[in-house]
Amino acid sequence: MGYNEARAPQFRRPASRWPAYGGPPGPASIPRTQGRQALPAKNEKQHYREPAIFNPTSVPLERPTLKLSTERVLTTHVGSLPRSQPVVDMLFRREEAQQYSRAEFERIMDEGVADVVRRQTQIGIDTVSDGETSKIGYATYIKDRLSGFAGDNPRQIALDLQDHPDFRARMAVFAGKQSFKRQSCVGPIAYQGQEDLNRDIKALLEAARQCNAHDAFLNAASPGVVSAFQPNSYYPSHEKYVEAIGEAMRVEYEAIVNAGLVLQLDCPDLAMARHTGFQDLSEAEFLRRAEHQVEVMNHALRNVPAQSLRMHVCWGNYEGPHDHDIALGKVLGIVLKAKPAAIQFEASNPRHAHEWAVWKSAAIAPDKILIPGMLTSTSNYVEHPELVAQRIMQFADIVGRERVIAGTDCGFGSFAGIGKMDADISYKKLAALVEGAALASDRLW
Ligand SMILES: [Zn+2]
Repeated sequence: MGYNEARAPQFRRPASRWPAYGGPPGPASIPRTQGRQALPAKNEKQHYREPAIFNPTSVPLERPTLKLSTERVLTTHVGSLPRSQPVVDMLFRREEAQQYSRAEFERIMDEGVADVVRRQTQIGIDTVSDGETSKIGYATYIKDRLSGFAGDNPRQIALDLQDHPDFRARMAVFAGKQSFKRQSCVGPIAYQGQEDLNRDIKALLEAARQCNAHDAFLNAASPGVVSAFQPNSYYPSHEKYVEAIGEAMRVEYEAIVNAGLVLQLDCPDLAMARHTGFQDLSEAEFLRRAEHQVEVMNHALRNVPAQSLRMHVCWGNYEGPHDHDIALGKVLGIVLKAKPAAIQFEASNPRHAHEWAVWKSAAIAPDKILIPGMLTSTSNYVEHPELVAQRIMQFADIVGRERVIAGTDCGFGSFAGIGKMDADISYKKLAALVEGAALASDRLW
């Protein structure tokens, strides 16, 4: 997908925000801004003050508030989307410390973000992301943001894959080999990623405005998931390590929210890490660690309102047996203690689809919003919109229609250039999500 195409007429503010369908999929009469706030136009300076967003001590700008499905079921997804080949090539040039031009890097990333935001808005996704375009992976990108990391570590084989070497070999063929770095912490951690962060925020705000998106969110790694991917060789304990990560990442969390974007904390450390990075712990040790990770995350979010935040919990975005996944029921109590108002989780794949019943029996605070996965993110099957609608109804029955947003199980491109998801099919799945949400809206309103 070339730059020129992305900058072509679609980039002019469309009269309707549903250009792909010629009309909104939900009730036709909903005014664009009713009940929801459009992203600020660039000339609205009170929302867009580029130089101020990285100064944590500056007066916060207007913070975003998560939109509820007040008039119809809103749609979103987990964040990552398949990246174009130029984006992948550039990310690996940087990953492998090859020579590259910073200007060229920025141009390619901006084009990538513009393209994915355009595709999301054309489909009719309500809360769009930058596709995590500039990030090599959702948890390992921090090596470009935090000081104190170096080297590389061998990848730990997930517990469910250890008995299946033949399948692992086939996985490497159909999904690609994970060749990104997994560094260790070898020194004091401090935030040093302002320039990259600034670029990400600016690119997403700009693209969202250009495409007239209703709302946009940016991902950031939770303190716990950083520790699950990057082992500690410096701090005296795991707890001290996670606390140092939390304090450093606070800069990123606050900057995203202060820029007017919803912040999504990626927290597979609360589920997936049980059979991956923290597989050597007992279950009780894992749960204690998860509890601490949530405490640290909440502390790192102390200056950010819960209503500007969502979190994503998952068991690992890969096709595999997943028969070592810790049950939702064991971690849900911990997840519900986290500060973010909205929780996005796997609810569609065959290992976790039954857990709607766990949500049904859980004590969910009335201010929590659920963003269940209505699509699998490891299969190129396109879910039938009717199935999406049925799944939405199931959760609307639990917490009420206004507190359900239709999401996806996980990202469609968790690691740049890796994974079995086809880009065009991923967008077809997202279109089925929008269509299914419209069907459910007709039934619920
Ligand atoms: Zn995930």
